[in-house]
Amino acid sequence: MQKSKEVFYKICFDSLLEGICIANHEGRIVMNNSAVEELFGYEKGELTGKEITQLIPEAQRKIHLEYFQNFIKHPRKYKKGKGREFLGLHKNGQVLDLEIGLNYFRHEGKFYAKALISEISIRKRKELRIKEKNKNLELVVEEREDQLIGLVSELELSNRKLKEEIKERVFAEQRAKLAFEKEKELNILQTKFISLASHEFKTPLSGIMTSASLIQKYNEVQSNPRIAKHTNTIKSLVGQLNNILDDFLFLENSERKGYPMHLSRFRLSDLINKLVEDATALLKEGQNIKISPFDPSTELQHDRKVIDIIIRNVLFNAIKYSSRNSTVSIKICTQNDLKLVIEDQGIGIPNEAKEYIFDRFYRAKNALPIQGTGIGLNIVKRHLQRINGSIDVESEEKIGTKVSIDLPLSIED
Ligand code: ADP
Repeated sequence: MQKSKEVFYKICFDSLLEGICIANHEGRIVMNNSAVEELFGYEKGELTGKEITQLIPEAQRKIHLEYFQNFIKHPRKYKKGKGREFLGLHKNGQVLDLEIGLNYFRHEGKFYAKALISEISIRKRKELRIKEKNKNLELVVEEREDQLIGLVSELELSNRKLKEEIKERVFAEQRAKLAFEKEKELNILQTKFISLASHEFKTPLSGIMTSASLIQKYNEVQSNPRIAKHTNTIKSLVGQLNNILDDFLFLENSERKGYPMHLSRFRLSDLINKLVEDATALLKEGQNIKISPFDPSTELQHDRKVIDIIIRNVLFNAIKYSSRNSTVSIKICTQNDLKLVIEDQGIGIPNEAKEYIFDRFYRAKNALPIQGTGIGLNIVKRHLQRINGSIDVESEEKIGTKVSIDLPLSIED
């Protein structure tokens, strides 16, 4: 009976998956189960009587011995799974990762140490792999963090730059606004001054004109062609001056209260003849005006003064900006509307000046030696805008200029 009980215990002992190793106070193995032999690669019963240090790698044996002696002096229980890990030595020299639970007991007055051993190499390897993965992950996170920090600082920098840019733009806008306001003020002052001066000039000029007309009536003058020629020149020049003053006054008036229209029906040919007659006085030696034939019965319904100003300015410019022995040609077409083309062989307009010639007081560099005010085309454009007309300028420096005007034959009040 006692025997079968022993066998039963032995079977239980051996069938445990964990290794159980019992050593005496000298550190010699007195009993172990099959799991220990399997773990360390020994034959059945081979370990009995062997020192437990045999199961420990050479390098750890000294520490292990000290530990064992200390355990005998101060024995206590060490449960497994509380981080009691150590290295074991397989019979074939392979180092094993082990976990140990330590306990002791006394039998017949003798001290015995009991160790529960399990292999944790697989777990250890897994842990190691996880650790490595974690490390890699940390590295990646660190790298990303660095990238992120770089990105954030880049963003902050561009944000700062953007803010500065916006600030500068706001400043520039304010400066431009201020400059624009100042220019506007200056423009108003300029126009006011010009109109005041023009008014003052008008009275003495009309006096000169009257006197010149009166002189022409004297008998002596009529019999002396030279005096008659000079009085005519005076009258023509005073007329020109008057036109300039009218332009100035028109500018101020149109800006202040608009220009009132005085519509009437008149023959286009009458207007053209009058303009050509006035222009003839301005012709230089050998210069001539060539008008292509047009329907003489064409009538316009417009403010005659306005149409006069438009054509006069363009025609007089053509004469003024071309030299002796050149031709100024006028082509008129009156089919659906009035198309008028005035072409000269004069100094032309430099390319860089073309976009400015309708600006008030603008004069191209090559025009500066020739007398002018720079307001004629500005007035022409304003008038044309009011009567739904248009103007187009084609020009080549030193070759000539072609101005095309388009306007309706009649407008309503
Ligand atoms: P201006 O009194 O100077 O003639 P305008 O307003 O009539 O003023 O013309 C503006 C500018 O356009 C002139 O100063 C000149 O530079 C240019 N221009 C106008 N017409 C002609 C032309 N037929 N030939 C050459 N340049 C011209």
